[in-house]
Amino acid sequence: MTGKRDWSEKLNPVVRHMPPSGIRRFFDLVAEMKGVISLGVGEPDFITPWHIREACIYALEKGYTMYTSNQGLLELREAIARDLDLTYGVTYDARRELLVTVGVSEGLDLAMRALLAPGDEVLIPEPSYVSYAPCVLMAGGVPVTMPTSMENSFRLTADTLEKHITPRSKVLLLCYPNNPTGAVMGRRDLLEVAEVARAHDLIVISDEIYDRLTYVGQHTCLASLPGMQERTVLLNGFSKAYAMTGWRVGYVAANADFIAAMTKIHQYTMLCAPITAQMAALEALQNGRESMQKMVQQYSRRRHLVVQGLREMGLPCFEPGGAFYAFPDITPTGLSSEEFAEALLREEKVALVPGNAFGPSGEGHVRLSYASSLDDLGEALRRMARFVQKRGVRVRAVVNM
Ligand code: PLP
Repeated sequence: MTGKRDWSEKLNPVVRHMPPSGIRRFFDLVAEMKGVISLGVGEPDFITPWHIREACIYALEKGYTMYTSNQGLLELREAIARDLDLTYGVTYDARRELLVTVGVSEGLDLAMRALLAPGDEVLIPEPSYVSYAPCVLMAGGVPVTMPTSMENSFRLTADTLEKHITPRSKVLLLCYPNNPTGAVMGRRDLLEVAEVARAHDLIVISDEIYDRLTYVGQHTCLASLPGMQERTVLLNGFSKAYAMTGWRVGYVAANADFIAAMTKIHQYTMLCAPITAQMAALEALQNGRESMQKMVQQYSRRRHLVVQGLREMGLPCFEPGGAFYAFPDITPTGLSSEEFAEALLREEKVALVPGNAFGPSGEGHVRLSYASSLDDLGEALRRMARFVQKRGVRVRAVVNM
C-alpha cells in the first residue's frame, strides 16, 4: 500500500507537464492484443551477432565484473577513435576527446545538461526523434522546432535554420539519417547548414546513430566538414548498426573541455557503462564489419520492397536514404495519423507509429520500421492494402515479398 498522497504536487513541474511519449501510449494498446504485427519499434529484428555475444561471455568468464574508468575502457575509446578516423577521416584523442556512455540516450542527456542554461534555445528539425524535446526541457532549455516536409525530402535547409535563429539560440540538434523520416543529408546540404551554424556560433549536436545504415550515397560525418569538428558534439553508438539495443553502449566525441564537463555529470550519475557491454562493443568494432554489412544489405532490400509496396497501395512515400523507417503520406485515406494508426491496429492488427508522435509536422504520415522479417513485412503490407482500399484508395498492386 503506498497510501493516497497526491504525488503530482511534489513533482518537478517540468516532469509533471511533460506528456508521455506518443509511442508508448500506442504500444500499451498493442500489448493488450494478440496476433499483432508490430512495425512500430525502432529496433533491429536481428539478434546481436554471435561473435559479439561470445566476447561478452568470455569477458564474464575471465572475471570482468568491475567498474571501468569513468570515460570507458581505454581500449574501446582507442578503437572508436580508429574507426572514426578510418571511416570519416576525423581524428579524436582517445584519452581526452571521447566518452563512452550508456547508449546515445545518455550522451544526448549529458550534452544538453552540460550545455544549457535556463532559457537557452535548441533548434531541432521536425519531425524529430521523440526524446529530443523532452531532453532539452529537462535540462532547462527551450526546444525550437523547425518543420521539414516531404516536398523537401525532409532535409533541413539553411534558409529554414536561419529563420528560426534568435539571440537565445545556442544549439542545433541534427539527426541524419533521420528517425522518423529516413531522410539523409548529403555533403553539399550539410555544408550550407554548417555555414549558418558557424555564422551564428551555434554548437551542433549531431546524432549519427544511423550512420552505417545509409543506402543512398555516402554518409557525411558532420565533424568532417571544414571548421566543424571544434563546434560539433558527435553522438553515436552500437544499438542500431550492430543490433545491440539492449547492451546500452554509445559514445560522445567532442572537444576535450566539453568531454571533461560531460564526464563530471556522467561520473556522478552513471559512473560508467557496463564493462561487459563495453567489451562486446570493442569486439563489434574490431571484428563486426562483415556481420554489420550483411544486416545493412538486408535492410536495404526490405527498404526497397516496402517503399514500392506503399506506393503501389496508393500511399505516396518519400524514398528514405537511411535508418530503417518508411514515412508514408496517409492523407489519401482521409484519416489523421492517429486515426489511421488506431484503426489499422484494431481492424488489421498492424502496429505503426502515428506521425504526430514526432511533432505536428509529422501529421499526415505514419512511421513504419522495416527492421522486421520479410514475412512480417509482406503480411503487414497486404493488410494495409486491404485497409486503405476500404477507405477508397485505389490500390494498384500488392507487393510480393
Ligand atoms: N537517437 C536516435 C535518433 C534514435 O532513434 C535512438 C533510438 O531509437 C536513440 C538515439 C537511442 O539510442 P541508444 O539505444 O544508443 O540509447
